[in-house]
Amino acid sequence: MRTGIATVCLSGTLEEKLRAAAKAGFGGVEIFETDLVTSPLSPERVRALAADLGLGLDLYQPFRDFDSVPEELYRANLRRAEAKFRLMGRLGMDTVLVCSNVATASIDDDALRAEQLHGLAELAGDHGVKVAYEALAWGTYVNDYEHAVKIVADADHPNLGTCLDTFHILSRGWDTEPIEKIPGEKIFFVQVADAPKLSLDVLSWSRHYRVFPGEGQFDLPKFLGHVARAGYNGPVSLEVFNDTFRQADVARTAVDAMRSLIWLEERTARHLAAEASGPGADAPSPAELARASRAYAMPLTTLPQVAPPTGINFAEVISADGAPRTAELERLLAQLGFASRGEHRTKPVSLWTLGDARIVLNRQQARGLEPAISALGFDVEDGVAAAARAVQLRAVPVPRPSQANEEILQAVNAPDGTEVFLCEDTRWIAEFGEDQARTPAAAGGTEDGEWSPSSAGAPPAGSGAARIDHINLAQPWQHFDEAVLFYSSVLALTPEASQDVSSPSGLVRSQVMQTARPEDEAGRRDVRLALNLAPWIQSDSVKGARTDTFQEHVAIEVDDLVAHARACRGRGLPFLPIPENYYEDLDARYGLEPGFLATLRELDLLYDRDAQGAFLHFYTASVGSVFFEVVQRLGGYDGFGAPNAPVRHAVQHAARHGG
Ligand code: MG
Ligand code: MG
Repeated sequence: MRTGIATVCLSGTLEEKLRAAAKAGFGGVEIFETDLVTSPLSPERVRALAADLGLGLDLYQPFRDFDSVPEELYRANLRRAEAKFRLMGRLGMDTVLVCSNVATASIDDDALRAEQLHGLAELAGDHGVKVAYEALAWGTYVNDYEHAVKIVADADHPNLGTCLDTFHILSRGWDTEPIEKIPGEKIFFVQVADAPKLSLDVLSWSRHYRVFPGEGQFDLPKFLGHVARAGYNGPVSLEVFNDTFRQADVARTAVDAMRSLIWLEERTARHLAAEASGPGADAPSPAELARASRAYAMPLTTLPQVAPPTGINFAEVISADGAPRTAELERLLAQLGFASRGEHRTKPVSLWTLGDARIVLNRQQARGLEPAISALGFDVEDGVAAAARAVQLRAVPVPRPSQANEEILQAVNAPDGTEVFLCEDTRWIAEFGEDQARTPAAAGGTEDGEWSPSSAGAPPAGSGAARIDHINLAQPWQHFDEAVLFYSSVLALTPEASQDVSSPSGLVRSQVMQTARPEDEAGRRDVRLALNLAPWIQSDSVKGARTDTFQEHVAIEVDDLVAHARACRGRGLPFLPIPENYYEDLDARYGLEPGFLATLRELDLLYDRDAQGAFLHFYTASVGSVFFEVVQRLGGYDGFGAPNAPVRHAVQHAARHGG
């Protein structure tokens, strides 16, 4: 599949955009008029630069308000078009986009439209140019791609075809099935964009909220499947107007964009393979996938197939060696019921476990840093295949200098810099020595008498079975959509609809990414991640950015939360204090049994319910930007206690500001 990107997707000058697109691996670009008009480069220089970079100049745009106008305006339009065709000749470009008219002065007359587009195509032919006519979702009279295709057929000129744009088609909810009836050679260009489902006028939605494929909610694999079946084999080009992408780092955005097309290409092949097998069939086999990827004129590249992760193997927190914060963190882990499993054989790294929940405390290269979540390990079947897939999706591998006798773990960087490890087992635990167990006292930092070093090392009473339930990561605003695509494409996690949570410093957009819910086991998903888009992040350096909402946490699931909370309280764990107003509201909402409500109040526990079950949880105080949550899922509860999140944000805000 030939990949492309419109210059309007990227920040920077025209030259920076071309260089970034080429470096990310795109086959071609669409040149937006404004980018050329504002460039100091002559058209000849742009052409030479693109040739040097191995980048095709696939589409010039836009040309607007051309069709169905009064005769005098039509003559003026042809003059304007001829100037653009000459310019395209200098650029070496052969396809121009003409959008359906949005002006109120246009005339609702399909015969006139076909006649004027025929005239334009005739002129274009003289210059070796092809005209791709696109129905804008807000076109005054032509806003449906089938209507545009009919006009193109009526105009009947070899230099006139259509451009299909997923936004204009899917935002209006048009049926995509008829795409297959368009002759492949009449589809001159295909533009793809994804978008979140919003209730907004379609023009504003298009101009500001388009995102790359996989970052929104359109069914793009189905769309592109129809395009492939129609016999199209031209560029599949990203046309994404997005306020964030237009100000984010151009090289990063280009890589994110390329990842989205690689993802879409593979999803399209899978969609076609699944359709070939018929409804109710199993996931396509590698042979079926290979067949589907070669079945049509447009070849589709696929990736190593990996199953979604089956668990969170570990979470790593980075914290400066010898710093009081590190001692505080170790004390907090011990108070939570974690046992120290000792130091790594060769590195200043320690391991803490509670049941199957593992926290690695990494003190390497952490000088001056506040404690922060720095790495996550995911349980995968085949680490090498998973890493190969990630690298094909343009993820950057983590360089890992490891000793000869160490487990080799595959890892890639997530967009926010978090290292993502792909683990097949837990043999790496053997690299930590039980006999060299560190205690918080040895780390030099216990400040008060509530916790005693002697309780470290042995699993405390009341811990029972435990595992990591979910991880909550804060994301800087400029990398949020990129992170969603990263975790869905690289780790095969499914994004749920996002929610906005109120906090004293602004709205926090919360995006859950998780594995499918097994049908036989109520509520227990293998992997749950929550990504929070924090407001007002001034710094691009994620770790160590100190704002109220830039807190991250690891949530541990236990079997008996009340008993666990009591044991933690006995060890002096600093709980996040919950205001009395919360409990009054809880009582008003649910009419809880008075004894139970008293227990919640006494232990600073929070409570939520959904259709399947209930959720009990509590939070610890923060150390740096890290805190912990302990949860218990009752029945098939499948959420994250979202109604309680504003309470947490408010109390954490007060704690930071001395409230
Ligand atoms: Mg378009
Ligand atoms: Mg949580």
